[in-house]
Amino acid sequence: MVLNIHNKANVPELAVFKEFIRSRGLRQTQERETIVLEIFRKREHFDVDELFLRLLAQGKKISKASIYRTLPLLVDCGLIREVNYEDGHWHYEQIYGRPHHCHLRCAQCGAIVEFEEPLMAVIEKKLAQAHGYQITKHILEVHGYCPQCQSQTPAPNHEEHHV
Ligand SMILES: [Zn+2]
Ligand SMILES: [Zn+2]
Ligand SMILES: [Zn+2]
Repeated sequence: MVLNIHNKANVPELAVFKEFIRSRGLRQTQERETIVLEIFRKREHFDVDELFLRLLAQGKKISKASIYRTLPLLVDCGLIREVNYEDGHWHYEQIYGRPHHCHLRCAQCGAIVEFEEPLMAVIEKKLAQAHGYQITKHILEVHGYCPQCQSQTPAPNHEEHHV
């Protein structure tokens, strides 16, 4: 017996998406549904090309254009967010039902550590008081070199001496 891990009942995001589509007066399509199910089957950062290849590997021929059209809808309804812009395109992650977090990112290999720092709440509060803003969110990405990359390559400040 093959267990159906794609069972729609196990993907609350699909219900959220369908409700959003309805509220916008857009058409429900099988294509969009397939894209949404694949995104939430694997909870990893992804981009359009990766998603396209994952679908293709399962024999699902969904055009990249359809994926490009669907992702902004998923961002709008709060199911995913843009993580970083790299190699000329956006990378996304699933955020529905997850607590807020920020990213620590390796500038060499792209490895990402997800973290939440309570001090950020303090900073938000300070900013709200200082500027009279009602803060709704923050996006923080910290760059550096992960331990592995540090051990494989000379630190950049060392290289500068050779130039
Ligand atoms: Zn944060
Ligand atoms: Zn690295
Ligand atoms: Zn993340």
